[in-house]
Amino acid sequence: MLNRRHLIAGLTAGLALSAAPLIARAQEKLPVVASFSILGDFAREIGGERVAVTILVGPDGDAHVYSPTPADAKSMTTAKLVLVNGLKFEGWLSRLIKSSGTSATVATATQGISPLKLKDDDHDHGKSGGHDHAGGDDPHAWQSVVNARLYVANIRDALSAADPAGKATYEANAAAYLGKLDALEGEIQAAVARIPVDRRKAITSHDAFGYFVKAYGIEFVAPQGVSTEAEASAKDVARIIRQVRAQKIPAVFLENITNPRLIEQIARETGAKIGGRLYSDALSTASGPAGTYIEMMRHNIRQIEKALGTGAA
Ligand SMILES: [Zn+2]
Repeated sequence: MLNRRHLIAGLTAGLALSAAPLIARAQEKLPVVASFSILGDFAREIGGERVAVTILVGPDGDAHVYSPTPADAKSMTTAKLVLVNGLKFEGWLSRLIKSSGTSATVATATQGISPLKLKDDDHDHGKSGGHDHAGGDDPHAWQSVVNARLYVANIRDALSAADPAGKATYEANAAAYLGKLDALEGEIQAAVARIPVDRRKAITSHDAFGYFVKAYGIEFVAPQGVSTEAEASAKDVARIIRQVRAQKIPAVFLENITNPRLIEQIARETGAKIGGRLYSDALSTASGPAGTYIEMMRHNIRQIEKALGTGAA
């Protein structure tokens, strides 16, 4: 006859048995590290249930300037795949890769993208006083949806190489996501077409929209260079203020990763309106208006259309 103790032992064993495969399955997820939030979103879209993605520079974070934590180093050591933007966006990352001793494959998401060369006047006003960015590449390639398609293809291929058993899943997820990107591209182009040509210009705090400018024909000027590492000089700010007045630039935009002070000053001194906040180098939190790449691009173009359109929007 079964006594109570046997019964409990039996139940416990049963639980252990049924729980075991679940735990094993969770451990089998491919550990992927993404350097910043936008890459993390792509990796989750394409990796789906097969991957466990850790993001180093999270929502509203500035990946130009970042100090890795001990937890980041730990994520690196357990990772099988590390996804980076490249084009010198994450200057702190190669040291982290080295110091963590990770054996993960490092995949560059901008591989194959034609980088925009920085103009000669996009020089670095930083401590070095040098021109180390001149002739360099603009890293903000994700700001054009055509480039985002290449990010997706690179991440799909990197996931398939790291986890060949998941290849069919990654290909199916990527194909579905690319369809959504096509629709997004159409939405952005339609919104731009509704903005009068002479109003397709605006100010942001740092030069994050070069690819957006090239792809969609809205001109962005910024007092701060292509990286947030260097502060804008008084001369740069004065130049922008003159430009806003002379060219009647209708709006200035705040960015989620930069201090609003500079843009508020420019708005005050020129009378240009603040057109809201654009998400440049990072997503918002999941509950915010730009929790995914697609939401981010959609939010940005809506803000731009609202501020630059003629009031119809
Ligand atoms: Zn940036």
